[in-house]
Amino acid sequence: MPGRWGILGASFLARGACGSRTRENPKETPGAPEESPEPCLASKCQDETVGKKDTLRGRWLATRRTTHELWLIGKALVSTRHVVQAHIIPIRRCNLDCAYCNEYDEVSAPVPLEEMHRRIDKLAELGTSLITISGGEPLLHPELDDIIRRIKHHGRVAGLITNGYLLVPERIERLNRAGLDHLQISVDNLKPDDVSKKSLKVLDQKLVHLAEFADFHVNINSVLGSGVNNPEDALVIAERARSLGFTSTVGIIHDGSGQLRALGPVERNVFERIMDMSKGSYSRFNHFQRNLAEGKPNDWRCRAGSRYLYICEDGLVHYCSQQRGWPGVPLARYTPADVRREFRTRKPCATHCTVSCVQQTSYIDHWRAPQHLDPLPSPRHALDREAAESLVQIETESGD
Ligand code: SF4
Ligand code: SF4
Repeated sequence: MPGRWGILGASFLARGACGSRTRENPKETPGAPEESPEPCLASKCQDETVGKKDTLRGRWLATRRTTHELWLIGKALVSTRHVVQAHIIPIRRCNLDCAYCNEYDEVSAPVPLEEMHRRIDKLAELGTSLITISGGEPLLHPELDDIIRRIKHHGRVAGLITNGYLLVPERIERLNRAGLDHLQISVDNLKPDDVSKKSLKVLDQKLVHLAEFADFHVNINSVLGSGVNNPEDALVIAERARSLGFTSTVGIIHDGSGQLRALGPVERNVFERIMDMSKGSYSRFNHFQRNLAEGKPNDWRCRAGSRYLYICEDGLVHYCSQQRGWPGVPLARYTPADVRREFRTRKPCATHCTVSCVQQTSYIDHWRAPQHLDPLPSPRHALDREAAESLVQIETESGD
């Protein structure tokens, strides 16, 4: 049984919920894995792979994971005074160059391990239940396993979002030994194109390795929306994920200006069919995604900066990947008072927000505590106007 947090944490990497800039000249991808001879589609490959999930040990691990996560959800319901989920970036560099992504560069060094330990210790101090390592491409960090171990040392749920290119059986076994709980890969199309090289043709063998060797829960995210050439690909990817014993989610990409655009009829049909596959999972109860698909606004209270934190490679706290700079203060100085203030702070960008992981985290508190405060002025945006303009613009009443 997939853990509830698996669904919740995993959906963040609906890179559809993240990147918005369009890059003109996608680079070649050195060191890319060999492409599978042909994409291994759901019906053809259904019975060829025996996943670890089907073993007694796999079932026991899944039950233990779910029990732990249900306890953490109970804790989140009882108290609003702690962080529920954080995404943390150990390296901004990526080995790919997806056209829709604004969350990577080609040069950044890994954050030193001692600093990563300090940040994880601080997140634990703030009561964070689920810590998801993202990037850039986190598998490029040479001490990733030690980072995961630090999260598990604090008894927290450890998640990882990766493009999957560097996964081989030996690397998967190392992630098992480090104690990883959840992993998500976003597969964007069946064959690589100018927008994304994260294709089933390239990654299918990686998925087979995961089914065979991973002790942790795996979610495969596909995308729909702006810049996706063949919407039907998402359905094939979701079916393939299911046939290998994984969960699947679908993210909706916003357009180049960071705004939401309603899906067309073909995309809507694909979206509904993928949602139908998710009966019984958390996403079944997630009306946000359905509203996004229809281009409708959502009425919700974004608890970013409180129940959800995004920690960039510089160690600053941001609302989310699309609102970097608010509040934009060092994690080392973030206090329970900040968590309480942001819980009550309304986010003017909420109505058409596509960041589904924050929506899902915030859903825990949907029924309580109206928000009446405005975001504090962002110190970083005053210094870095160009970077600020690349993001979905938050607006305060004072016009900051
Ligand atoms: S693989 Fe790299 S470039 Fe592509 S979405 Fe992920 S972080 Fe961005
Ligand atoms: S509402 Fe704004 S701050 Fe909250 S997750 Fe969405 S974009 Fe980020």
